[in-house]
Amino acid sequence: MSNPLLTKWKSPFGLPPFYQIKPSHFKPAIEESIKRAREEINKITENIEPPSFENTVEALDYADIRLNEISSVLFNLNSAETNSEIQAAAMETSPLLARYADDITLNRNLFSRLKEVYNKQSSLRLNDEQKMLLKKTYRSFIRGGADLDEDSRQRFRQINEELASLSLEFEKNVLEETNAFFLHITYKADLEGLPDGIIEAASEEAKSSGRNGWVFTLHYPSYIPFMQYSAKRHLREKIYRAYSSRAFGKKENDNRKIVKKIVSLRREKAGILGFSNYAEFILEDRMLNSRSMVMNFLEDLYHASRKYALRDFEDLSLFAKKNGHKGLIQKWDWAYFSEKLKKNKFDIDDEILRPYFKLEEVEKAIFKLATDLYGLHFEQRDDLPRYHEDVKVFKVTASDGEHLSILYLDYYPRKGKSSGAWMTAYLDQYILNRYDRRPVISIVTNFSKPLSSRPALITHNELTTFLHEFGHALHGMLSKCHYRHLSGTNVSRDFVELPSQIMENWAYEKEWLDLWARHYKTGKKIPAELIDRIKESMVFNEGYACSRQLGFGFLDMAWHTIEDTSIPDIEIFEKKVMKKTELMNHIPGSNMSCSFGHLFSGGYAAGYYGYKWSEVLDADAYSLFSKKGIFNRDTANSFRKNILEKGSTAEPMELYKKFRGKEPSVESLLKRSGFR
Ligand SMILES: [Zn+2]
Repeated sequence: MSNPLLTKWKSPFGLPPFYQIKPSHFKPAIEESIKRAREEINKITENIEPPSFENTVEALDYADIRLNEISSVLFNLNSAETNSEIQAAAMETSPLLARYADDITLNRNLFSRLKEVYNKQSSLRLNDEQKMLLKKTYRSFIRGGADLDEDSRQRFRQINEELASLSLEFEKNVLEETNAFFLHITYKADLEGLPDGIIEAASEEAKSSGRNGWVFTLHYPSYIPFMQYSAKRHLREKIYRAYSSRAFGKKENDNRKIVKKIVSLRREKAGILGFSNYAEFILEDRMLNSRSMVMNFLEDLYHASRKYALRDFEDLSLFAKKNGHKGLIQKWDWAYFSEKLKKNKFDIDDEILRPYFKLEEVEKAIFKLATDLYGLHFEQRDDLPRYHEDVKVFKVTASDGEHLSILYLDYYPRKGKSSGAWMTAYLDQYILNRYDRRPVISIVTNFSKPLSSRPALITHNELTTFLHEFGHALHGMLSKCHYRHLSGTNVSRDFVELPSQIMENWAYEKEWLDLWARHYKTGKKIPAELIDRIKESMVFNEGYACSRQLGFGFLDMAWHTIEDTSIPDIEIFEKKVMKKTELMNHIPGSNMSCSFGHLFSGGYAAGYYGYKWSEVLDADAYSLFSKKGIFNRDTANSFRKNILEKGSTAEPMELYKKFRGKEPSVESLLKRSGFR
């Protein structure tokens, strides 16, 4: 039988043929489509016509559409509905895809054609979108080392390979150190303060390792609640010390040398490409596109928030003292007293709010919000192909009936689904030969399941997550771009969270919640004072939280702007950088850098500031909705036309200014955080 991935997808809306696909189809389909894509690339390089925008840049954008679609299906399923065969297919094809991508970047003939187009662009009469595609494509080649001489190229490749394996080693060390420690409790009295569910999980953990009593680990679902709830201070200290010294100065799994090596290789790599440091290299295609812009941003926020961080610390110290705490607040005390203080001040928790957020009603409410803002309509179409029977499928249309997108909603945890929540695309939007390929978008979450006694009721936090992912989905679904590499959520990393985070604001709006949030049993409206308390609790601990994020941001920038070749002692370096944001005493033997995966094994190097920057953007953008009305069609329309439809077809700052009429300012975030 022929491979269904390779034949034309005949399902309505070109949906992937989920029912026909078998895991064994992926590898041959990817190999075959790599071959076909290479043939397309050869057509470009062997073209006897002189290089033009159309026959080179545009042709490159379209060359591997099918390959991209097939690998999207594989990797999306590997996250949402995997098994050992799909995992194997993903593992086996990843190196093939990496090699294919490298071969394109380092293809000399291709690059020389691209360069020729780039150099003569002023004579080409390109529109703005074409200019962006040219700029982005050219830049990605340059950043991939295409324009280097042979010696530098060799070294460049070597550095990339070395960095890839160092990151893996870093990650492996952190994981092994995380797994190596456990806190074994055998006296019931030592469980004081811990909620039942956490105790139950700890007892299961103990059983699974053949122990009696309770076992707590350094993994988040165990570590975080232990720090929040355990009344036993010496045990909190013990587990904190273990957590904060992972991979630091140990006999095995020591990341000190690896951090130094990564920092120095990154610096060298940036140097080869002509940048003075790694941060300048990373920031080149970001919204905040220089070291000084990022540093000014972090410093401004630091000065505006410092006094509130100190105030949070005072409040907490006072509260702890009143509750019998003696001596200084140490790092293992913060989460514990902060949880108690929050309960004391606002008296809300997940269980009080949950009955008002029946998932079925939440879904309707979010769709209705999209109707009110953007005129969208959602029609459930479970007759269409889907990858699991629990997944809901919707056809999304504009107010004039025009087809916009297919949307998958996949709510509940399952064996084979990764944890967390995310939005992804099965098919990207693009226009080819005047045909507008509408996207296929999916939202995957792990929400609280229905129980036999009640329907699915989600927490306020889950409601916020839903809105967040729905914001990303709107960015994908409403895309109106020509080129695949510019469309939908293919935007700069410090811009991509604007459409998602802005949606979270509605979760705190009385005007919206009032419309639909009803107790699932009594049908009573959510009480106004409960909404007030949710809103008030938003600013709780914001000074402390901001200070912590800024500390990480400063540390990130410090490592990636090192200009000196001699890399200093890690402990001293980190302590010096983070001193200004610290509220509590430094604990000797603890170290952040050696287990900071975001910087050394994830993709956040010189980008950690992006978390706070995205908040600046969303708060500033939302302030226009607050001012003009949270259902205001004109504001929504402008957000759609200038941001949601535009992908990367213009610089993010330009898009933002068109929507907001000005550059973003930090003021709205300061206000929302209670710093004004
Ligand atoms: Zn997001």
